[in-house]
Amino acid sequence: MKCVAVIGGGFAAAFLVHELIQQNIKVYWWDSGKTASEAGVGLCNPLTGQRMRWVENAEVLLQNFQNFFQTTVGSTLRHYWEHTPIYRPFLNEKQRTYWKQHWKQWHQWLTFQDKPVENVKNPYGGLWVKGATWIRKPFLNHFKTLLRRHAEVTFYPHFCPYKAIDIDQRKVFHHRVDAIFFCEGASFVKNPLFRYLHPFVSCLPGQTLMLKLQNCTWHYGLIYQGYFIPWDKERFLIGATYERQRVLTPSEATEQLLQKLALWFTKVPLHRVLYVYRGVRLTPRDYQPLVGCHRQYPWLFVLTALGTKGLLYAPTAAKALVRYWLHQTPLPSQWDVKRII
Ligand SMILES: Cc1cc2nc3c(=O)[nH]c(=O)nc-3n(C[C@H](O)[C@H](O)[C@H](O)COP(=O)(O)OP(=O)(O)OC[C@H]3O[C@@H](n4cnc5c(N)ncnc54)[C@H](O)[C@@H]3O)c2cc1C
Repeated sequence: MKCVAVIGGGFAAAFLVHELIQQNIKVYWWDSGKTASEAGVGLCNPLTGQRMRWVENAEVLLQNFQNFFQTTVGSTLRHYWEHTPIYRPFLNEKQRTYWKQHWKQWHQWLTFQDKPVENVKNPYGGLWVKGATWIRKPFLNHFKTLLRRHAEVTFYPHFCPYKAIDIDQRKVFHHRVDAIFFCEGASFVKNPLFRYLHPFVSCLPGQTLMLKLQNCTWHYGLIYQGYFIPWDKERFLIGATYERQRVLTPSEATEQLLQKLALWFTKVPLHRVLYVYRGVRLTPRDYQPLVGCHRQYPWLFVLTALGTKGLLYAPTAAKALVRYWLHQTPLPSQWDVKRII
């Protein structure tokens, strides 16, 4: 039986461990705990960015997520997967004109709406994204608990120091392994083995808020220079900050995010901040994940730099990496780390 080490505990590691055990691989798994994956709202949105771009292959990425929910582990987690549509008001007339011409290309996923939408500012109209989904926060912890219980998984709830890795002996601590998979999120920038990839990535901190809103009848998602996602009848998640210049304090981030309510709504609902989540996105220069093997050691693998779309990418990227390792199936060229070397 092949056995491997997986280092990391966010979406990347969880989907990878799931994929490995599906292939009857023994997994030693190190997870030091704090993830960017828990800071995010968990949007799995095919129409991203301020300029509203359709994500390349979004249909395939979303289908692979659906397929995950057909698996034994995935079917237990299905109730975290929300399908409420999201409304995206256009920012200006130019955006409106462009999407009026193009939305029908994705008519299974999008609906154009010119008319007013209750309590939302949409002077230029907007689009309903029917295919957008989000994952409720407890998903990741529940997913990891199910994986940890699996007979083929040995879990270590702590940091795995690089000095514990013996490259020549292919050992992590005393475990001899066939491969080591690094899914470290932003900590990847400290990984001495992949130093040659570091110039290609940067860390982008961000924060989201959990709010309690009074008498808010709005129970759809909204994306307009930020996102607003209903959590339950009273609580809402809003996000996110993109702290490119400097890291904001939680109160600065809160202020910045609360200002967005006035941008979105004709009448700002009464609100109270319940929680501020913080995380760091590891973002590659071309906004495509880093997936593949080390240029010198073909048994060292990386699955990281998922940027702002970790959820959308993780299930497909994990599957592609395991197939690449086991069957030499080529990785999607836009994701393969070889594009950088
Ligand atoms: C504010 C914010 C909002 C976001 N919103 C969304 C969103 O709505 N939709 C979306 O798709 N994405 C979103 N993202 C991006 C998404 O969170 C990331 O793309 C995703 O979490 C990356 O997952 P990951 O597994 O690569 O990294 P992480 O989630 O950071 O996980 C890495 C893990 O590895 C562990 N680790 C690192 N080194 C070691 C080691 N040596 N030993 C043991 N463990 C180690 C870390 O402790 C951590 O647990 C958001 C990010 C932020 C910050």
